Amino acid sequence: MTQLKLISLEKSYNNGTPVLKNVSLDIQSGELIVFVGPSGCGKSTLLRMIAGLEQITDGTLEIDGQYMNDMPASKRGIAMVFQSYALYPHLTVRDNMSFALKIAKYKQSDIDAAVSKAAKALKLEDYLDRLPKELSGGQRQRVAIGRAIVRDPKVFLFDEPLSNLDAALRVETRIEIARLKESMPDRTMIYVTHDQVEAMTLASRIVVLANNTVEQVGTPLDLYDNPDNEFVAQFIGSPAMNLLPGEIVATGKQTKVKLSDNCVAVSNIVTSESDLGKQVNVGIRPEDLSLTEDDHVLEAVVDITEALGEYTLLYLKHVSHAANLVAKVPGTHKSLRNKLIKFIAKPSKIHIFHDGISMR
Ligand code: ADP
Repeated sequence: MTQLKLISLEKSYNNGTPVLKNVSLDIQSGELIVFVGPSGCGKSTLLRMIAGLEQITDGTLEIDGQYMNDMPASKRGIAMVFQSYALYPHLTVRDNMSFALKIAKYKQSDIDAAVSKAAKALKLEDYLDRLPKELSGGQRQRVAIGRAIVRDPKVFLFDEPLSNLDAALRVETRIEIARLKESMPDRTMIYVTHDQVEAMTLASRIVVLANNTVEQVGTPLDLYDNPDNEFVAQFIGSPAMNLLPGEIVATGKQTKVKLSDNCVAVSNIVTSESDLGKQVNVGIRPEDLSLTEDDHVLEAVVDITEALGEYTLLYLKHVSHAANLVAKVPGTHKSLRNKLIKFIAKPSKIHIFHDGISMR
């Protein structure tokens, strides 16, 4: 059982500009934490600081209560799986997986047992005598994961492990990783990705990183249902949440926002009289917009339709909302193209943001 504590971690590279600031996080034993965020936000840097591959500029890293900032990578009880697999090309799968244990002078019988167990868990038993070049990308990544497993680390770190795989293999390997985690409930894992679908499907908790720090931490559905700010609202969920500018015209148990085209959005968010007149953004997920003939929250011309079988994405042109708006409606609706269409959303699905922060 292994807990990690990140206390006000900071990182600046040589040029002095901070890449990460004030990153604080408690990671419990057995969690699968996913760091997600746009490219360049510092996800890999944070992972490498935990691994001991990158120096910590300021703040404290603790593993099981022990100060880790100066501990060499090899002594942290951590194994890392990289996007590039980093396998030895001239060694077989078996030898790649045995390598670290051989260096650590394990008994051959223990090495064989560990490799055989990992190969079984990762369905690699038939490939143990092959070289990496004789494997598919997905199999190579499984070998890389196997190499981490045999060391029986306290903490597993994954740095974008699926990025080099094609779409189908990505899904397959993602499910393998989820299974693997289930088979090791007491192992703590930290996983970095820029892909919010991977984050949503794998994480026990997601850490959204952006603007050099942590934007929000929560379970996947918590972030989806209750984003703290516009950044998280638009980063989690695809297509991104629509944002419509407006002004609060009624407060109380329900809040009414008059939008710039005079439509009124009714939200279950509770506000007080002092909120009256505030300029806000109303947030509505594409999947929360439904077609209607009656009272509507949005009326727009359908510019482009993308029919995906199960649902249709409607890209909307709106007279006064400049932003790109999207609706995701069940079924096939190609015939809506170029028509003026009305949409409604339930008050429980209407988010309101003031200065970018949720008013919830
Ligand atoms: P992410 O993994 O989220 O894409 P990184 O952690 O790789 O982001 O990088 C975060 C920022 O730090 C980027 O602006 C990147 O250019 C910078 N950076 C990463 N590694 C170095 C380095 N060794 N020296 C200087 N700057 C770096």
